[in-house]
Amino acid sequence: MKNKKPVIGITGAYVNHNHYMEGVYVHHDYHKSIAANGGIPIVLPYINENLSIESAELCDGIILSGGEDVDPQFYGQDPHPNLGATIPERDIAEMALVHYAINNNIPLLAICRGVQILNVALGGTLIQDIPAQWANPIKHTQIVERKRDTHFIRIDKDSYLYSIIGEETVRVNSLHHQAIDKLSPHLKTVATASDGMIEAVELIESNTFTIGVQWHPESMSSHNQKMNKLFNHFVENCVKKVQTPA
Ligand code: MN
Repeated sequence: MKNKKPVIGITGAYVNHNHYMEGVYVHHDYHKSIAANGGIPIVLPYINENLSIESAELCDGIILSGGEDVDPQFYGQDPHPNLGATIPERDIAEMALVHYAINNNIPLLAICRGVQILNVALGGTLIQDIPAQWANPIKHTQIVERKRDTHFIRIDKDSYLYSIIGEETVRVNSLHHQAIDKLSPHLKTVATASDGMIEAVELIESNTFTIGVQWHPESMSSHNQKMNKLFNHFVENCVKKVQTPA
């Protein structure tokens, strides 16, 4: 029997510091949040769809992390002038991971860009730039440190997320200029901000942990018990996967 600690694959964003330092980057907060809850974090680089799935097969759970904007071609739109950097190769690799995770009952935690690619992979669309395309938005791109909570969300009592966090109104951080627009028919909204922005989703008719959040719980979990519960629950679900005979 293999190590009972679950292996959590975390997708990465592209960084290019200089000629010598170019690669895939995962914020250390993801690693720390997984490690603190008994998981083994590993970085999943994007090469192509097949390699993404082959590397996911080594994992007991998957986190889709934050980063670049999703290329709007994947939901049938041209780029808005305020669209940020996009990497279609990353989008393609992560959409393959979404389908792999769902089809194989692998626990999936989708964070920030992650919830957006989850929605796009399942047929939804995005708001390409909240300030330009949404009427009367609150501030979703906080200037203060990422660990600080800056806006309220309201969690649906009839949700898995509520059963984990245990409160209807919580404060979250916010580091996104995009968000879900048209929701995938396979997802349900389980938390919203006061301006109507979708802040969390779950997969409909699923027994597997499949939650997407628009905020960054990995940067709050070390000092916020409610956010740590999300990681604790996620890792526990991945442990169950390890113990199940193949
Ligand atoms: Mn927000």
